[in-house]
Amino acid sequence: MTYLCAMRPTAMRPEELLTPTPSGVCCQTGGFHIDPTRPVDKAVITHGHSDHARPGHGAVLATQETLDLMRLRYGDNFAGSTQVAKPGETLALGGAKLTFHPAGHVLGSAQVAVECRGLTIVASGDYKNAADPTCAPFELVPCDVFITEATFGLPVFRHGNADGEIAKLLHSVAVFPERAHLVGAYSLGKAQRVIALIRKTGYERPIYLHGAMEKITYYYQERGVDLGELRPVRGADKAELAGAIALCPPSSLQDVWTRRFPDPVPCFASGWMRVRARARQRGVELPLVISDHADWDGLTATVAATRASEIWVTHGQEDALVHWSKARGLKARPLDIVGYGDEDENDGTTDGKTGEAP
Ligand SMILES: [Zn+2]
Ligand SMILES: [Zn+2]
Repeated sequence: MTYLCAMRPTAMRPEELLTPTPSGVCCQTGGFHIDPTRPVDKAVITHGHSDHARPGHGAVLATQETLDLMRLRYGDNFAGSTQVAKPGETLALGGAKLTFHPAGHVLGSAQVAVECRGLTIVASGDYKNAADPTCAPFELVPCDVFITEATFGLPVFRHGNADGEIAKLLHSVAVFPERAHLVGAYSLGKAQRVIALIRKTGYERPIYLHGAMEKITYYYQERGVDLGELRPVRGADKAELAGAIALCPPSSLQDVWTRRFPDPVPCFASGWMRVRARARQRGVELPLVISDHADWDGLTATVAATRASEIWVTHGQEDALVHWSKARGLKARPLDIVGYGDEDENDGTTDGKTGEAP
């Protein structure tokens, strides 16, 4: 893959600065792709989720946390070379200027602002504008073109208050002191946010971790996120787990791994838990509507606040947000990038490194 040098004196069209392709947007002027879904020479990566941060690129530019998380998941040789991007610092890449800004999605997550000859495009990656004690808050970046995700891009999705969901969990723990509460949560971001929200209420008992969550969760602690006392489920006996809270990947809620717990209450922390049929399908007794993605109100408020005149939409539910944008007189298009998944629905263990036998 080679990049052309496109230096022309006239004003740039957005598609000249960032060209949408089925495997991610490509910046010819700067010689890089953003969150490419196939190996490229130079990748700029917004955050550590495995569909955005893939191994096998020549060079990777990302925040320190994103690079560390990729190293934890894929090993030291996940890329030919790496470069740390500090939030707020502007880097020149070819003819483009690049600045990372916090996205509020998971630890290290960033939006990428790309500027060339007066045109600014912000690729948000995944983001949320809700409070999260485990990562830097979303920063609004005014731009000409805003590339937004739309994982929950339908008006039915309103996540509500995550603290209220944690209160439901702790109420259930109080009502069933002999049962263990197993909270299914995505391994990177969601699990640590759920733990931090539990700690915010003053809950001080140890919280137990499935093996697949240990490495990433301990990394959060290393970076200064206070998660209180954590213990591996591995090695704990059944009596110790009575009345305890344990975090696990969602798929583990249904496997034999749960047999070590006394009369477990299956819980699942996800934006999809707004849809009761999904909770029933998975045998979830206590659905917790907690998402690391913006809901419909968050998406539309953010799109409006960027004051962008053009909106590009990724991640599945593009149509409603494209329609909403056009109705407000904005230019809008879906990007149709193939390969961005939905970590709220999946496990985050698809790289095969779950760290624990069933
Ligand atoms: Zn995503
Ligand atoms: Zn993500």
